[in-house]
Amino acid sequence: MNKRVPLIAANWKMHKTGPEAVNAAEKLGELCRTIQDVDVMIAPSFLSLPLVSQALKRMNSPIHTAAQNLYFEDQGAFTGEISGPMIQAAGASHVLIGHSERRQFFGDTDKIVNQKIHAAIRAKLTPILCVGETEADRDEDKTFFVLDKQITDGVKGLGSDIPGELILAYEPVWAIGTGKSASTEQIADVHKFLRSLLEKHFSREFAEKTRILYGGSVKPDTINALMNLADVDGVLVGGASLEPETFIQIIGFRK
Ligand code: PEP
Repeated sequence: MNKRVPLIAANWKMHKTGPEAVNAAEKLGELCRTIQDVDVMIAPSFLSLPLVSQALKRMNSPIHTAAQNLYFEDQGAFTGEISGPMIQAAGASHVLIGHSERRQFFGDTDKIVNQKIHAAIRAKLTPILCVGETEADRDEDKTFFVLDKQITDGVKGLGSDIPGELILAYEPVWAIGTGKSASTEQIADVHKFLRSLLEKHFSREFAEKTRILYGGSVKPDTINALMNLADVDGVLVGGASLEPETFIQIIGFRK
């Protein structure tokens, strides 16, 4: 039986000032008061992270917070960077690692992604490892090859005895912020493949308990079909998470 609790996660990227983020988080906290059997998470900017975490705590809200990135060293002379222990102290429980915008614009290679995953685990943060192929990869039939490499390199040095959870997010690069979602067939195939990779690198039990999210232009009118796919355990939402009134429609999906 599938006991994986769905996770609906918001990636606010470089949107919202501190006060705007707190305002949106408080609205969402109110809208989520009656929500059950689903985990909800917000990833605001670094500057908003402690403010949003504290605001949700004040409301006794079960909404989790995440950082959108971290640096792989715990402290030191790394001007402008933010470490795992700092994120933990800011009140977050999760961290996105290897988002395609980090890979595309900020040079996050598979090796760096792996170092960041280890840093997150050291800081007792749950890593959300983001993977996904580009449009060119898909056109050239390289989707599974690319995903295999991103996962194999990304989880190097980890075993099924890792403390806490690992979460995967499949985000085809061509579907992020473009309004073009992958088809349910494409998503079902990839998620099944990702679960088989988890079994290969960890164990069957680990693969069965690990949540695999889909991300890429998720909207209120596409969520039900996505959540009905056997291996989709939640979603990572960018654009449609910015307005609490829209995001709550995604959180309130029906299976
Ligand atoms: C994302 O940034 O992770 C994302 C999926 O964005 P969007 O929902 O806007 O495509």
